[in-house]
Amino acid sequence: MTVAETAQPDPEALGREMHALATELYPLCRSITGAGLRETLRAIQNRIPLSVREVPSGTQVFDWTVPNEWNIRDAWIKNARGEKVVDFARHNLHVVNYSAPVRAKMSLAELKPHLFSLPDQPDLIPYRTSYYKESWGFCLAHHDLERLSDEEYEVCVDSTLAPGRMTLGECFLPGKASDEVLISAHSCHPSLANDNLSGIALAVALAQTLGRQTNRLSYRFLFLPGTIGSITWLALNEPIVPNIRHGLVLTCVGDSGQATYKKSRRGDALIDRAMQQVLETSGAAHRVMDFYPYGYDERQYCSPGFNLPVGVFMRSQHGTFPEYHTSADNLGFIQPEFLADSFRRVWGALEILEHNASYRNLSPMCEPRLGKRGLYGGTGGQRAGAFDEMALLWVLNLSDGEHDLLSIAERAGMPFGKIRAAASALEKAGLLASTSTALGG
Ligand code: ZN
Repeated sequence: MTVAETAQPDPEALGREMHALATELYPLCRSITGAGLRETLRAIQNRIPLSVREVPSGTQVFDWTVPNEWNIRDAWIKNARGEKVVDFARHNLHVVNYSAPVRAKMSLAELKPHLFSLPDQPDLIPYRTSYYKESWGFCLAHHDLERLSDEEYEVCVDSTLAPGRMTLGECFLPGKASDEVLISAHSCHPSLANDNLSGIALAVALAQTLGRQTNRLSYRFLFLPGTIGSITWLALNEPIVPNIRHGLVLTCVGDSGQATYKKSRRGDALIDRAMQQVLETSGAAHRVMDFYPYGYDERQYCSPGFNLPVGVFMRSQHGTFPEYHTSADNLGFIQPEFLADSFRRVWGALEILEHNASYRNLSPMCEPRLGKRGLYGGTGGQRAGAFDEMALLWVLNLSDGEHDLLSIAERAGMPFGKIRAAASALEKAGLLASTSTALGG
């Protein structure tokens, strides 16, 4: 293989590191622009080589415009006795993200159109945004909303919403080939752990691990505000786009739900087959779903003008778990063991992208004798562990120049790693010759 063999990553240790990064980032009030996003990217920069690009408000990007920059210092509602009944300092979900500044006194009736709660989940604070329609508002637990009496309230949103910049984070790890794997995580949600921070943390762990070894493929990690960030990145990087041969959006990867893969719009790209193979041979509950034009930044990467081979890896699907977009999507909702499991799945798919290759059987007239080459039969120690007899037979049978290792693994229903180990043993024994090492999507 052309790829340097290095120590295997330790997903359990990485799971703990990922949770620690999420814990560090959780308090920051991120948005699609502004200081919270910048601080988040700085924390990522402490761990991986991240370049940061500032795009001015008003920049035209396809059919969209980079919005004004939002920054917030404080926000609260005080009752007639001057007590803060809603306080941004206690939870950043309390303010509608992108709220315009306001300072006013008003009755409860005037205030109520600006208050948002979840009657069905009365203890939770909802997450609301007003990105593209200037307004202001507060989010609070429905129980707290019900406790507000009819009196005069003082309202303060100490924010600025003015021309500035939108910040994009990008980490490029060059490999031996110019073919790229794109890994994208939205980084614009405030204190939400699964929807946002888990994807960021997994992307950072992958970049750290890949950065410690020599890779065949190049890797491009994007940390972007959702929707407008990926639209802007695509608009500013059109010449790079043809290099993107595989891609994954990472989101909601830290909860206890089953590993889930949403296919790219193409449906049969190598990343689609690789993720599916990893999940299907994992022995654990999982789900594979077809592409649909809703969700996260795959909407942009898979828009018809780009149609990139970019799928989504997640656990619980957005909008389907009760904690989604509420204060219950907190640091307890994501766990190191699930982050570790997500790492293991995605790493498995990246290994397929790195190592998929095709071989030709050099002894195709009937089966070659494996026993005399130490690959078969009684000498158990020789074949223990990495490869087994069935894998050897599958690789020999299908290495006809038309099947790559992934398609052999698919047909055999065996993990890619076993098939790869068998191919490597057969190659060493002089029974196989490599015909390619860089198969595209
Ligand atoms: Zn979200």
